[in-house]
Amino acid sequence: MDFVNVIVDISHEKVDRVFQYRIPEHLKSRLQAGMQVRIPFGRGNRLTKGYVVGFSERPDYPPEKIKELAGIVEGSVKAESQLIALAAWMRERYGSTMNQALKTVLPVKQKTRQKQSRKLVRSISVLEGGQLLEEYRRKKYQAKARLLEALLQNEELDYEEAVKSLKLSAAVIKGFEDKGIVRVESRTLYRNPFADHFTKKEKEVLLNREQAEAVEGIWADHQSGIRKTSLLHGVTGSGKTEVYMELIARVIREGKQAILLIPEIALTFQTVRRFYERFGDRVSVMHSRLSGGERYDQFMRAQNGEIDVMIGPRSALFTPFSKIGMIIIDEEHEGSYKSETVPRYHAVDAARFRARMCGASVVLGSATPSVDSYDRACSGRYGLYRLTGRYGDAKLPGVAVVDLRTELKEGNRSIFSRKLRAAMEDRLRRGQQTMLFLNRRGLSGFVSCRSCGTAIRCPHCDVALSLHNDGRLRCHYCGYETGMPPLCPSCGSRYISGFRAGTQQIEREVQKLFPQARVLRMDYDTTRTKESYEQILTAFGRGEADILVGTQMIVKGHDFPNVTLVGILAADISLYASDYRSSERTFQLLTQAVGRAGRGRQAGEAVIQTYVPEHYSIRTAARQDYEGFYRQEILYRRMMGYPPAAFMLGIYLSGSEEEFLEKQAERLGNAIQRLCTEGLVVIGPAVAALSRKKDMYRMVIYLKHMKETVLLHVKNQIERILEQEAVWNKIYIQFDYNPLNAY
Ligand code: ADP
Ligand code: ZN
Ligand code: ZN
Repeated sequence: MDFVNVIVDISHEKVDRVFQYRIPEHLKSRLQAGMQVRIPFGRGNRLTKGYVVGFSERPDYPPEKIKELAGIVEGSVKAESQLIALAAWMRERYGSTMNQALKTVLPVKQKTRQKQSRKLVRSISVLEGGQLLEEYRRKKYQAKARLLEALLQNEELDYEEAVKSLKLSAAVIKGFEDKGIVRVESRTLYRNPFADHFTKKEKEVLLNREQAEAVEGIWADHQSGIRKTSLLHGVTGSGKTEVYMELIARVIREGKQAILLIPEIALTFQTVRRFYERFGDRVSVMHSRLSGGERYDQFMRAQNGEIDVMIGPRSALFTPFSKIGMIIIDEEHEGSYKSETVPRYHAVDAARFRARMCGASVVLGSATPSVDSYDRACSGRYGLYRLTGRYGDAKLPGVAVVDLRTELKEGNRSIFSRKLRAAMEDRLRRGQQTMLFLNRRGLSGFVSCRSCGTAIRCPHCDVALSLHNDGRLRCHYCGYETGMPPLCPSCGSRYISGFRAGTQQIEREVQKLFPQARVLRMDYDTTRTKESYEQILTAFGRGEADILVGTQMIVKGHDFPNVTLVGILAADISLYASDYRSSERTFQLLTQAVGRAGRGRQAGEAVIQTYVPEHYSIRTAARQDYEGFYRQEILYRRMMGYPPAAFMLGIYLSGSEEEFLEKQAERLGNAIQRLCTEGLVVIGPAVAALSRKKDMYRMVIYLKHMKETVLLHVKNQIERILEQEAVWNKIYIQFDYNPLNAY
């Protein structure tokens, strides 16, 4: 190969083609796909970094125009060509530049300095050493005597530690080395942040009938070479994790590797420990709390074959394993599997693509599968396995739905219904724990006027400001802050106050009602620091509080056997989010929240407070009836032509000048209409749900089509349109394939 194709590492929309370079003779044997290289670029031949994406025998341009590669960026991570292919696929499907896609799959580019461990190893016998020691003592060579004595006690010493504790100079050690008394051995230490905490345990797990059926079914397909995706549908506690572990064990026995994706929030100490106890240090965990160096090390350990299993959130999918046998995605319905930055990929789809490349199987697990996945399973495109009971004899909780309209009519203005209040009192008396869950997805504790209904909003972001304990109003996007106005800025009324359902507010109300109760609060504000999230949950788990108040964070992860009551304070708020998945999300959140009650031996109870008790997502969640919910929801999706009944593409436009943006959005909308694609539905352009963020105006266009391939083709045509005129460079345009959240 004489020529190399390189993608230039500049994050600019238009620098998105492949450039060809001649390979200098001395680099021919070393160059590999995925390497970072230095290339002369542009008119000034400025040295720029790029990625090798391929090679070619013959030049695609006149040979005299092809420049020569300047060199390899040393220390850059050699990525699997699989990952680069994955990037190319992501770019095609989700609409991004190749650079953006590569940056996503090759997250660690620069080698951080490795921690070196150096050892002093004695290389003479104890007898020889003993004689030498006497000689040193006689001659009063104090430092030498100290070192030798230590070496006679321990054959190996840690270099750094010995220097410090024995007060040695480098010369003393050098002298020993020269005389052949010690060897200095150094090796690179890859940080394994968990290794010290756990030990492997041999434990026999006997799978129950349903678990065994799932394992054998998935494994039989896998072994007979059918590489498909299977959905494991089972409530929390039904034993899905045991199924994953058994499958992973088999994959390892086969000499292959496994990736297990778990939402970051569910990646608790307990979960990690289960895997370490089963697989020992052949497992590694990736999460956002690791330092850059630690992350890099985990990837290196994977690449070097030191581990077989990688556990982590979305980005663990890009672990540079070369022989993946299985990719498992737990809680596959979770929104966090979809990236909200370009390329806006979905981990389930990306995992399926990666699995196809390396002949791996994909297993998805959830208590509340996404409507998309369940639809595929029902139509036979995915395998479907069910775990119907909780493991052991843990019971599902009893659920009561309370109509808040009735409460108000009957004179109860408190945020707690009478039923919930009585239940809380009862738990306090019995020394059992309560979790109060405030469903406030997308809503903050905003301030509004009770006379005219106006909410106070951020002047830059057009989102409601939220009221903090110190009385200040803050914007959670841009950080803008202001004092609480004494009168409504809109109508001048004095009746202006916080929305009575922030977590702080609830905490205060609980304290007022039950002064003796010990209350913990968990929300965005109390979990800012890295450890605070775990600390709060651990404290609650140890029984240091009676009541835990929190947002959706509290409904996931940890098991609390002493929690016998879950109160859901505003069950319907998430129904008002302005996108087609709001019912699905509400059902999922409520089901999870209800599932928190009664994980131990005592029977649990859940109280759902709502203004719309008749809504199907609330009714079915109260019954823990996934099937019932799915049947209703899929009808709605089909009727409205939303995914999975159709495919959807969001086109997000943003720019600093409102009028110009509007004009361009209009032009783009018209251009798309002119493509005359049969069956294409164009919605908008419209002002985005968040109409302004950090002083950038935002607009959206949505496209729908029954055929995925047609929609992807339309996306490519739009990309071509955008390339043709420089005017499009003045606004920022992103694509979002099957969007999860409103832009
Ligand atoms: P899920 O992942 O569906 O929430 P888990 O796999 O965590 O469920 O199982 C719930 C609990 O039941 C765990 O403590 C687990 O160890 C236990 N368990 C599940 N299956 C078995 C089994 N076959 N034998 C023994 N314990 C099991
Ligand atoms: Zn007002
Ligand atoms: Zn703002």
